[in-house]
Amino acid sequence: MATTTWTFYAGTRTIGGNIIQVEHDGYRLLFDMGRAFRSDIPIFDGTLRERGIRDLVRVGVAPDIDNLFTAPADPKLAIALSHCHLDHTGLLPYVLSGTRVFLSTDTFRMLSALDEIGEGPGQTLDYTPLAYGVRVSHGPISVHFHRVDHDTPGASSIFIETPDVRLLYSGDLRLHGAHPEWTREFAQLARAFQPHALFIEGTRAIGEESVTTEAELSDLALQLTANSAGGAYFNAYRRHPERYLAFYNAAKQTGRTLILQPETAYLVHVFEGLADFAVWSDPSIQLSQPVRDWIAEKQIPSVTANDVAHREASYLMELTYDRFWLLSDIAPEAGGVFMHANGSPLGPYDPAWDNMLRWLEHYGLAFESIGSTGHASRNEICAIIEEIQPQVVMPIHSFNPERIGSTSVRRILPELLRPYTLASLADAPYPTEADLAPTVEEA
Ligand SMILES: [Zn+2]
Ligand SMILES: [Zn+2]
Repeated sequence: MATTTWTFYAGTRTIGGNIIQVEHDGYRLLFDMGRAFRSDIPIFDGTLRERGIRDLVRVGVAPDIDNLFTAPADPKLAIALSHCHLDHTGLLPYVLSGTRVFLSTDTFRMLSALDEIGEGPGQTLDYTPLAYGVRVSHGPISVHFHRVDHDTPGASSIFIETPDVRLLYSGDLRLHGAHPEWTREFAQLARAFQPHALFIEGTRAIGEESVTTEAELSDLALQLTANSAGGAYFNAYRRHPERYLAFYNAAKQTGRTLILQPETAYLVHVFEGLADFAVWSDPSIQLSQPVRDWIAEKQIPSVTANDVAHREASYLMELTYDRFWLLSDIAPEAGGVFMHANGSPLGPYDPAWDNMLRWLEHYGLAFESIGSTGHASRNEICAIIEEIQPQVVMPIHSFNPERIGSTSVRRILPELLRPYTLASLADAPYPTEADLAPTVEEA
């Protein structure tokens, strides 16, 4: 009888970009399909752009997997996606068109809406959207999804069964968002699934345990908007439409008009259905046909920077970094605030971060960080592992996977390109407290 093998092609020691292949009797399932930034290899950025997938494979940004990016296509190869973040979907534009892709219905909705605003994979893939709990077969490999809470709609864990193994991929998850019960329910279902191997994220393996919750973010957005003597600006990640409700409520309660970027407004309307807001208008803002049609059909009011100038205190405004030039038209008056809620640039590791702060300082806007992470803390992840009790845990999506685990669960720190089978799990050791402890630099 054929045995199942699984291989880690990327993402064992990075935040995101994890690509795992499960193979049984010639059938292959790959999950996810993202790009992660690594400090140990050269990368392409906004200025130095790749010419195509070959450049990405050569420098090591994309894995070299047969029939994935280059013909001939293989009908026995399929992809499963946990969620729509770029570190999980960034390579989709290069996947051979026609490749079968399993994903949750909301992830499909998000990728389609992103295509409509011009920010999606823009690909003719053979999408198979799946409701939670519904099984689909890819040859001998059976797949189903369960929802988890993360900072984007449709986020899922992936349950995989073959004739000889049960594998479980957590996707990205958290317990401090608006739906912690989704993540708790996942842990219960995962335990009942009795996985041989659990692949779980460890983004926050080191660092602070406590964070700003999504509810606290809403309160902060309201307080800072209410206390602003001038304009109230914010920057969030439009792939998380639910978070815009915090700014919508802050605008409502302070009597300000909410102004969104038109593309954001389009995405938010697909998922949340807001009313009472305006969108930015400027000759430099070029919109896709679906967004223009939608704005015209819904008669959404447009606001220009000149409309806002000298009346900033009447508005709560989404200001994305790529349109900071709006500030040069508005010329903000003293006393305004800029709330950073996980929009791009996301953190000091991004070269644009310092420039963002320079712009804000130049225009006298107070910088306030009010973000809420999409990831559970280290202790929460370790408690979930203990609850699930897999035969073996294999931590991924982490700079410090050795910090993720439990002394009561066998563990393997996965190695790239090494094929694992059920037999590989038999002698996996239980980590000791010392194995899980932070190293001197981390502590
Ligand atoms: Zn991720
Ligand atoms: Zn994510």
